[in-house]
Amino acid sequence: MESGKTVIVIGGGIGGLSLAAMLGKKGFHVTLLEKNEMLGGRAGLFKANGFTFDMGPSWYLMPDVFEHYFDLMGEKIEDHLALKRLTPSYRIFFKDSPAGMINMYADREKDGETFEKLEPGSSVKFDEYLRRAKLNYEISKESFMYKNYDSIFDFLTLRVAIQGTKLSVFSTMDRFVRRFFKTETMQKIMQYTLVFLGSSPYNTPALYSIMTYIDFGMGVFYPTGGIYKIIESLVKIGEKNGVHYRTSSPVAEILTENGKAIGVRLESGEILSADIIVSNADIHHTETKLLKKEEDREHPESVWEKKTLSPSAFIMYLGFKDRVPSLTHHNLLFSRDWHKNFGEIFDHPQWPTDPSLYVCAPSVTDPSVAPEGKENLFVLVPMAPGIEYTEDEMNAYGEKILDLMQTELSIPNIRERIEFKRYFCGKDFKERYNSYKGSALGLAHTLMQTAIFRPNTISKKVKNLYYVGANTNPGIGMPICLISAELVYKRLIGDKSDGPLKSL
Ligand SMILES: Cc1cc2nc3c(=O)[nH]c(=O)nc-3n(C[C@H](O)[C@H](O)[C@H](O)COP(=O)(O)OP(=O)(O)OC[C@H]3O[C@@H](n4cnc5c(N)ncnc54)[C@H](O)[C@@H]3O)c2cc1C
Repeated sequence: MESGKTVIVIGGGIGGLSLAAMLGKKGFHVTLLEKNEMLGGRAGLFKANGFTFDMGPSWYLMPDVFEHYFDLMGEKIEDHLALKRLTPSYRIFFKDSPAGMINMYADREKDGETFEKLEPGSSVKFDEYLRRAKLNYEISKESFMYKNYDSIFDFLTLRVAIQGTKLSVFSTMDRFVRRFFKTETMQKIMQYTLVFLGSSPYNTPALYSIMTYIDFGMGVFYPTGGIYKIIESLVKIGEKNGVHYRTSSPVAEILTENGKAIGVRLESGEILSADIIVSNADIHHTETKLLKKEEDREHPESVWEKKTLSPSAFIMYLGFKDRVPSLTHHNLLFSRDWHKNFGEIFDHPQWPTDPSLYVCAPSVTDPSVAPEGKENLFVLVPMAPGIEYTEDEMNAYGEKILDLMQTELSIPNIRERIEFKRYFCGKDFKERYNSYKGSALGLAHTLMQTAIFRPNTISKKVKNLYYVGANTNPGIGMPICLISAELVYKRLIGDKSDGPLKSL
């Protein structure tokens, strides 16, 4: 049992919630302050017209990491989540391609057959690609993901360890994938998973080929009732361990004295003191808005401006009057020209002219998220962060996407079939989550924003101030944020070990 120190966690995203529960279990007195009316952060939820929409994440990946977290907390995951493995894992639609549409199963035989049709000889190459991705995953998990970085030497050790395996994982994903696959279609299938990390294949290290193992080696799962069930279970576990949650409580300032965090001031003016402050809010917001003194900040604004942000997103939540038979649970439509599409997202920002899009139809698997006989669709188009736009421009883009869905995803008479529609875009990310430039996911996973080069879990300037969540180590994604919580937990209890904890 710890000393009973007081901890304030700013933000109720998955990182903040999971850390709060861990610290509560260890005997810390934890208060979690969330700006919005509900907990969950980007993994929020809303209900309308009988539909239940998960607002952000929809892919339950890395089940091993979730299991590990629940184990640590002394909980059985099956007591909280009814997980279902999706078959197929997802469906890919190609614009004007002879491939048309394919299903991916995370099944060697079935996927191998599909790959052979797309590129003869590719199924054997895929076996080798997957073998390497698996090796990368195992090395990364042990010596990279569950690791706090305190000096460049930590990173160099990792580099040496990986290079010893002859995996050239510090070249770009694009180059790495091209060594295995000749056709654009196969290259896209191997690279699309980077979108989960908010990254482009042209500037992301091939280390992240681990995503292919996560996708094809482990499969894709779904918690019945929706992703928000994960949030509910974390809150429940936190409550059991004494965490005090306060929603609609935006923090205005982290109070510091002589370079030490001593508490927070809420926007309401209320002051709360604590021994330890952990911010789960986006790091740019924490650094530039919540820390008021320049000497407490690690970087000036000019440094943040040079960071590579993950895309923002144009999202449509659609309630259909009837079923949409052409779709499975997860559906992807790839743009024709990836260079152009990624260029419009990362290099010369504009609304994507030939967009890729993702459609989740959870009602295919789960009748509880839509009224009987109706379909619940979540549509996401990755787009550049920081784009200024008017409501009219956004609505016009929505019309373009509906046209695209009608033709490319075989959804005839799409407009007449929609009974509920809500859009969510860059400005909403900014307002709802205090996200820098309306980025959907936070800092992208370029090499220079990975490991030691990513904002650390501990402030370099302010004592007793820590960071948890997608903008710190290891990075973006729900399971990755659970790992981030474990990293902060380790710091707070003085555990310097690498790799997953055996117990709390
Ligand atoms: C559209 C979308 C789709 C995604 N899809 C997937 C997916 O399929 N699978 C997956 O694993 N991951 C996915 N992700 C990524 C994943 O959702 C995030 O990486 C993860 O949820 C981020 O958690 P976090 O701990 O960083 O906190 P966040 O969710 O970012 O929460 C931070 C919280 O801090 C609060 N806050 C901010 N400022 C203040 C303040 N001043 N005072 C108090 N509170 C404050 C915010 O309101 C917010 O609730 C997706 C994300 C998005 C947006």
